[in-house]
Amino acid sequence: MVKIVCVLYPDAAKGHPTSYARDSIPTIASYPGGQTTPTPKAIDFIPGQMLGDVTGELGLRKFLEDAGHELVVISDKEGPNSALDRELVDADVVISQPFWPAYITRERMEKAPKLKLALTAGIGSDHVDLEAAIERGMTVAEVTYSNSISVAEHTVMMILSLVRDYIPQHDIVRSGGWDIADAVSRSYDVEGMQVGVVAAGRIGLAVLRRMKPFDVGLHYYDFHRLPKDVEEELNLTYHPSAAALAQACDIVSIHTPLTPATDTMYNADFFAKMKRGSYIVNCARGKLVDTDALVAALQSGQIAGYAGDVWYPQPAPADHPWRTMPHNGMTPHTSGTSLSAQARYAAGTREILECFLEGRPIRDEYLIVKGGDFVGTGAHSYDVK
Ligand code: NDP
Repeated sequence: MVKIVCVLYPDAAKGHPTSYARDSIPTIASYPGGQTTPTPKAIDFIPGQMLGDVTGELGLRKFLEDAGHELVVISDKEGPNSALDRELVDADVVISQPFWPAYITRERMEKAPKLKLALTAGIGSDHVDLEAAIERGMTVAEVTYSNSISVAEHTVMMILSLVRDYIPQHDIVRSGGWDIADAVSRSYDVEGMQVGVVAAGRIGLAVLRRMKPFDVGLHYYDFHRLPKDVEEELNLTYHPSAAALAQACDIVSIHTPLTPATDTMYNADFFAKMKRGSYIVNCARGKLVDTDALVAALQSGQIAGYAGDVWYPQPAPADHPWRTMPHNGMTPHTSGTSLSAQARYAAGTREILECFLEGRPIRDEYLIVKGGDFVGTGAHSYDVK
């Protein structure tokens, strides 16, 4: 018998949904580049229904209990007396989500001698102490690509919303107003602007592809150049550093993983290099950005608008300055947990668990850490040695 502790965001205050806006979601069989969507042996949920909250349980309970395993689903994860700390001590597997990150620290691992697998139901395992996981010989896996397109769509929505100044215009309508001059006083067309992504991985490249029809100039910076045919197809300008890209662009979208090297790399120095009135979108990780320096750059007008769905810490406290800073289009961490994304990462979580429980290899693209080193996607995206 294996004990699986699953940390999910709480049900909505009004309760787990009992009806849905749509009856189904499109079936997606593969991602750009050909990787197949998750292939578990079976699923016990209806795609398009809520799976990411505590009641949703990622659709795992029947599968795990039928096989004689124990599933504990909780949302309480903060502080030394949290349900997570209590349940982790004899757990074999911990599942958590970047949207409601259960920080699996070295201290927590030390109190959980049986812990063998930390599984991210989504993408981004920076909430797990990867060095400690390597030292302990643990496996860390995530459902690579499951919500990359979801995040890319959210990013494009935010770019358009910021530049056209959509949210204040909607607020005018909701409050019964019709002040057109006020509504358009910060509203521009995206057409003709220079749009850059820092990191052109799965999400960054998907953002570039989606922005192409807006007749903008497209730029990127990454450690590695994209294939020549992709650069030509999208008419991309490559920059040798994030700072060089920022100087050339009107809109910068951040898609770097959070590692010790990228922690607060977007700081006062970086903002000072940007054109006055630039826009920034960050759907990667909140800790990539210096919290106070960003507020100051928005207050001074150096940055014209900032949107994103990632914060540090999460959940963000009620007085987090990003909730009230000027010209922000923040959302809670939702871009990668649309109902469509949930169906894919729940299926991927099940696929990884099936492999783990049956002693079969986990797909390479899902692996971050295994056997004392970065492997698979981890070797590519997280290994900063
Ligand atoms: P990928 O691994 O596909 O791409 C990451 C890219 O970042 C790679 O191309 C890598 O370069 C590049 N890179 C790493 N460090 C740097 C750096 N310092 N400067 C420039 N480029 C760098 O990841 P995804 O596109 O799938 O995801 C990106 C990030 O988005 C995730 O790490 C995660 O934090 C976040 N995310 C957020 C979600 C949300 O819900 N908001 C959901 C999913 C992901 P190379 O390959 O050339 O080495």
